[in-house]
Amino acid sequence: MSRKSALVTGSTSGIGLAIASTFAARGSSVVLTGFGDPAEIEETRRSLAETYGVQVGYFDADLQRPEQVQALVTSAEAFLGGVDILVNNAGIQFTAPIEEFPPDRWDAIIGINLSAAFHTTRLVLGGMRARQWGRIVNIASAHGLVASPNKAGYVAAKHGLVGLTKVVALETAGSGVTCNAICPGWVRTELVEKQIRTRAAREGIALEQAALGLLLEKQPSGAFVTPEQVGAIASFLCSDDAAQITGAALSMDGGWTAQ
Ligand code: NAD
Repeated sequence: MSRKSALVTGSTSGIGLAIASTFAARGSSVVLTGFGDPAEIEETRRSLAETYGVQVGYFDADLQRPEQVQALVTSAEAFLGGVDILVNNAGIQFTAPIEEFPPDRWDAIIGINLSAAFHTTRLVLGGMRARQWGRIVNIASAHGLVASPNKAGYVAAKHGLVGLTKVVALETAGSGVTCNAICPGWVRTELVEKQIRTRAAREGIALEQAALGLLLEKQPSGAFVTPEQVGAIASFLCSDDAAQITGAALSMDGGWTAQ
């Protein structure tokens, strides 16, 4: 991965930050994007660049807005001199039964978790094809393969993202570009921490007990996937060893979807 350049969406926290850090550690220049405190983001950017001696940029964009996705890709291409690796990682969650699911939450989830990946992909592919090399990694979920109640928006978006992955893989097959999805089970980031807090409050139990309950309901291994493990698999998919893996939806879920 040395001397490649990567745009990682949702890389100001959680899984995206771990993926961006893994790429930087392996010699890629990286563009970070996502929400957060500007001073903290700048500190992260500076620290990655200094620690690993690579170029690290940050550009702000609300991925729910196609014109901001376009501006992000233009800025990333200019900063990096072309995007070799695109990781569509940004995502949000909202849980409610479908009759109570607020339409604006549905639109936001589809916009950020699915449509943004369509826009970034269509915008970076020209450059990847011209260079005859590219890697697109979509961070889907176990919920891209199976469903759970109260997650209509998330499950629909993640199944859609797995479908988009397959189409892009077929359209780019043989061009030097691959497109794959990673389907993690529970990873203990802020996105899941919110669900743990809700469960603890609902059941009147301690946070750690709620975390264990959440895990054991779905993930037979009884352990969380770590953001660093997702970073390592993303990095593998960007290696030459993975050149013939395309259109795959790789589960890393402690056995969740084997049941
Ligand atoms: P997180 O909340 O820590 O990170 C989400 C990132 O997306 C942040 O950088 C945030 O700023 C960014 N983001 C949110 N809305 C945005 C918007 N409108 N425009 C631009 N950026 C926006 O969550 P995470 O757990 O690290 O999630 C990363 C991805 O992994 C998501 O797609 C999520 O669905 C997926 N995932 C997470 C888990 C898990 O258990 N945590 C499991 C499977 C898949």
